[in-house]
This record gives sequence, structure tokens and C-alpha cells, in this order.
Amino acid sequence: MDGYLSKLRKAADLDTLAKIVQACHCCSLRNGCQHVVFGEGNPKAQVVICGEGPGADEDRIGRPFVGRAGQLLDQILAACGFQRSQHVFILNVVKCRPPGNRTPAPEEIQACLPNLRMQVHLLGPKIMILMGNCAAQTILRTDQGISQLRGQWVQKGEIWFMPTYHPAALFHRPQLKKAVWDDFQAVVAKYRALVDPEHRSPHC
Ligand code: SF4
Repeated sequence: MDGYLSKLRKAADLDTLAKIVQACHCCSLRNGCQHVVFGEGNPKAQVVICGEGPGADEDRIGRPFVGRAGQLLDQILAACGFQRSQHVFILNVVKCRPPGNRTPAPEEIQACLPNLRMQVHLLGPKIMILMGNCAAQTILRTDQGISQLRGQWVQKGEIWFMPTYHPAALFHRPQLKKAVWDDFQAVVAKYRALVDPEHRSPHC
């Protein structure tokens, strides 16, 4: 682990980091997955979106948010005028699929945290959208649930964090859609304030 961490800290750019993380075996999740899902998007994006971990589709393909929840995320992003390849970088707290899509265990989250920290360090976003309990609690270091946290900006250092529900939650609790939409509208307003006052979006 120490050797891995010192290699990680020396990564000077995201491509180098991705190669290092692809070879990570710092927790047992690596034993049961097909791909280490590093994340994707524009390395220069000012918005980073963080979910929990890869699901079955993501593990099979090796890309984040490509299943049903990912398609819904794409629709939300499009309504905000954001494109995956241009405006955002999408990643997860853990990079390997927890078996049966269970929530990652605390020790798995801790093991993967250096990877996430280094990603955020190299990306240097102005805004991070934290989707679901795992992302919000891990990054904001709180025990509060997402229903308490969502919709309220938290600023730490140079980054503004917006916790919201994970899109997968909207399939079994469609009544949460309005809250998610409100949170993304707040992100668009912050994006205009911090990044691009001319940003156009079709619905907000
Ligand atoms: S989940 Fe993270 S810490 Fe665990 S093996 Fe995968 S990349 Fe490494």
C-alpha cells in the first residue's frame, strides 16, 4: 500500500493517474470486478460529478454511469446544457464494483479514498455534485443522510459541493425528481456565477 501511495502522489496528470489506478489492488473489490472504472469526461471540466461505485453495466464496459441511472443522468445534464465530454468529469467513490451492487464497506471506501483525492486534486474543479449518501458522506465527512444534506451548498477550500440524490434512487422514488431538478438548477446558477456567465441551458 505504501508503495502504491507514493506512486499515486507522483502522478502529474490524469492520464498517468488513470494508468496507476487501473493497477490498484488496495482492496478486495478488485478481485471480483472486470474493470477498474476510473471515470471519464473533460479533464479540464469545472464540474465533477461523484457517484457511489460502478454497477454491472459500468463494470462490464469500464465506463461510469452507462446503465439506466447513467442514461437518466445524461438527460438531466442535457436539460442543464451540460455535455459529458465537455462540461463535466464523472467518477465514483470506489472504482471497482461491489458484488451485487451493495454499498461499499467503510474499509473499501477508505482504501479507495487516496485515488479519489488525487483525481480531485488533478481535476481542480470549482463545483462537485455529490450523488447519494456514499458520495456526500464520504466527501463531506458527515453521518448526515442525503435527505438532510441535499440542496445545500457546502464550500471547502476552492470547491463548492452540492449534495443531491443518486439518479438510481429516482426509479423507485420518483417523488424525488423535483428535488434533484432543483439541485441541478442551483448548479447551473453556480456554474454561471463561477465559470461561464454565458452558459446556455434549454430548461434553466
Ligand atoms: S475499489 Fe479502489 S481501492 Fe479497491 S481495488 Fe478498486 S481501485 Fe483499488
